Amino acid sequence: MRVVFLGAPGVGKGTQADRVTSKFNIVKISTGDLLREAVRNQTPLGREAKSYMDQGKLVPDSVVIGLVRNKLADPSSRNGFVLDGFPRTVAQAEELGKVLASTHRQLDRVVNFQVSREDVIKRLSGRRSCPKCQATFHADFAPSKKGAACDRCGETLVQRSDDRPEAIETRLKVYEEQTAPLIRYYRDQQLLSELDGSGPVEAVFEALSKVLTPYGTT
Ligand SMILES: [Zn+2]
Repeated sequence: MRVVFLGAPGVGKGTQADRVTSKFNIVKISTGDLLREAVRNQTPLGREAKSYMDQGKLVPDSVVIGLVRNKLADPSSRNGFVLDGFPRTVAQAEELGKVLASTHRQLDRVVNFQVSREDVIKRLSGRRSCPKCQATFHADFAPSKKGAACDRCGETLVQRSDDRPEAIETRLKVYEEQTAPLIRYYRDQQLLSELDGSGPVEAVFEALSKVLTPYGTT
């Protein structure tokens, strides 16, 4: 099974990707994880990525695509994969298509997780983190047992500035503008499945499994 998950920040697709990997015995490919791993292992691409990050610049597409290409060539992805957070643009989607075609593979499905704007704001604006030990909590879904203080170390929890409602509105707007062409691209290729991502994790996973089961053995 070879799938891509699309969805705004805070729709819960990372959690669903983790579940899908264990149910269907495939790997999750997250560009954030690949970047961190490459930097840690000081691979050539990792060193290149770090030189941009050290200057506070965005890591260019060529590096990100190189990391994805290496991962897709790795035997661990032979049984299938779920790409989480990539591609983000039509240009990246076209590159992905070429990389897969060069190894005689293609995508089975692209799942677009849809959640209402209010839900996303509720999920993201409830996030709290500990500035001391980096533990994370959610005011509604995973609160600290000590209320406004950290469960683990007692430090006062903080809200990241980009999790404030105004900042979330901006992030969502940017996301929608950036990915609308990508969604059209995959719809035109008849690969797109829209999925209602609101509601409990379990219910979303059940609906997602129905969408993906036909591709379980590819
Ligand atoms: Zn703490």
